[in-house]
Amino acid sequence: MTNRKVVIVGAGPGGLAAAMQLAQAGCEVTVLERRDRVGGRTSAIEIDGFRFDCGPTFFLYPRVLAEIFQSTGRNLMEEVPMKRLEPQYRLTFGGPAGGVLDCTADMDEMDRQIAEFAPGDVGQLKRYMDDNRVKLAKFRPILESPFSSPLDLMRPSLLAAASKLHPLRSLGQELGRYFSDPRLVIAFAFQAKYLGMSPFNCPSLFSILSFLEYEYGVWHPIGGCARVSERMAEIAREMGVDIRLNEPVDSIELEGRRVTALRCGESRYTADAFVVNADFADWMTKTVPNELRRRWTNEKIEKKKFSCSTFMLYLGIEGRYDDLPHHNIHISETYDRNLREIEIDHVLSEDPSIYVQNACVTDPSLAPEGCSTLYVLVPVSHQSESIDWATQADAFRELALDQLAAIGLTDIRERIRVEHRITPDDWVSDYAIHRGATFNLAHNLGQMLHLRPKNRFDELDGVYLVGGGTHPGSGLPVIYESSRISSRLLLQDLGMSTEFIEDAARPQGR
Ligand SMILES: Cc1cc2nc3c(=O)[nH]c(=O)nc-3n(C[C@H](O)[C@H](O)[C@H](O)COP(=O)(O)OP(=O)(O)OC[C@H]3O[C@@H](n4cnc5c(N)ncnc54)[C@H](O)[C@@H]3O)c2cc1C
Repeated sequence: MTNRKVVIVGAGPGGLAAAMQLAQAGCEVTVLERRDRVGGRTSAIEIDGFRFDCGPTFFLYPRVLAEIFQSTGRNLMEEVPMKRLEPQYRLTFGGPAGGVLDCTADMDEMDRQIAEFAPGDVGQLKRYMDDNRVKLAKFRPILESPFSSPLDLMRPSLLAAASKLHPLRSLGQELGRYFSDPRLVIAFAFQAKYLGMSPFNCPSLFSILSFLEYEYGVWHPIGGCARVSERMAEIAREMGVDIRLNEPVDSIELEGRRVTALRCGESRYTADAFVVNADFADWMTKTVPNELRRRWTNEKIEKKKFSCSTFMLYLGIEGRYDDLPHHNIHISETYDRNLREIEIDHVLSEDPSIYVQNACVTDPSLAPEGCSTLYVLVPVSHQSESIDWATQADAFRELALDQLAAIGLTDIRERIRVEHRITPDDWVSDYAIHRGATFNLAHNLGQMLHLRPKNRFDELDGVYLVGGGTHPGSGLPVIYESSRISSRLLLQDLGMSTEFIEDAARPQGR
């Protein structure tokens, strides 16, 4: 039998992980990428010797990708050396109460710091970790398998986990069961922002996010998270995958509901199966004729809830802030208002929370001698009529730089040597992200499991989705997981073996 042909749209983390696994299975794989480099949101931005991660900077729960590497006979930590960060990050709190937490996996040290916030809360973190260890064990089978219909909700694994689901409880409320001090609630709930959501709207299931940090570590891949994408692309090419850059897919050819070919301008790509890693809502609305869709028509997509966006500054600076940890999160004095402005009012905040990565304290390779990089992320609304970035971006940049004083950076302006900026409008135009919602469809219970776009896409035959827009959701570990789920389905549908994937996921395979 000739090799089965698979074409993948997009060389983001989901597409690259799928390419590796499908090539390992023996498929002839072509990846079509619209941009001039691989990685998508997990790519590098390089300016005058400075190298920044475009998006992800927190590499969490390496286990999933390690298993995928293992399934192709490679060792993740050897292919992409990584450092586990200690402290994991620094949290500073605005407002009269103030406070600084250097968050570490050392539970005794955490209790020492927690005592300074609220003596009565000492010991609660250990209880939280114990409870979430059980919760993750119950939810893993759910995160690792596809959801194709409501009947899947009756699976024994889901029924067993249901008692932990608490559908009406938000992540913030869940944390309130452990901590009396609102700052400590935020310290273990702000991770909802990784999904682009407010902790007070995000389902309590996601308490596993902060658990994953403390249990499995926060990692920095040397060269940045973009290096992981680059190495995956190198490996894929070594395995025979044809990765074509500057090749945007602009239309599909169909026979009935079955996709038979993809078109990029004059070029035409046929295959036995297609994997779509492009942003789900962007790809659907631009590439798949509306009249062919039932559940995901343009009208229905517009009614969905989308994640927040981000305003980004990438600053190459003179010297290095040696006293500033690798990751810094500043929680604004008006945190609740800030969240409301992002998710409900869709206006710019006057007192935004910010995240700053000072990566060169861990990885000096990212900047020229005597210089360093600062990555500044401000969560903001996805595109909305009430914000005009063309006229408001300059002032917002000034505000973001002013906010850096909250983490001790008061002389930043005079030290900037290079600067790059991304607004929600740029996420749309340069990165093809629908409404600039950087973390895809929101992760509320109405848009998860069988209610999220399915891994084996049910509106078109022969199409499989990977990435943050499908199950299990956004964030690198689950994006890699989506590639594993969809690769398995695709291979099974083509009558090919998935044994190598299962072998690597067994405890002895790791
Ligand atoms: C600012 C920011 C910070 C983040 N921080 C973290 C973090 O710290 N940790 C974490 O785990 N996650 C984080 N994420 C979330 C997530 O992990 C990344 O966004 C991730 O890169 C998403 O991967 P993906 O495979 O879904 O899609 P993408 O990375 O978007 O890849 C999709 C690819 O498809 C290509 N494409 C699109 N349309 C077409 C087309 N028509 N033809 C051909 N190619 C096309 C795109 O160019 C892109 O290369 C962050 C995201 C952002 C934006």
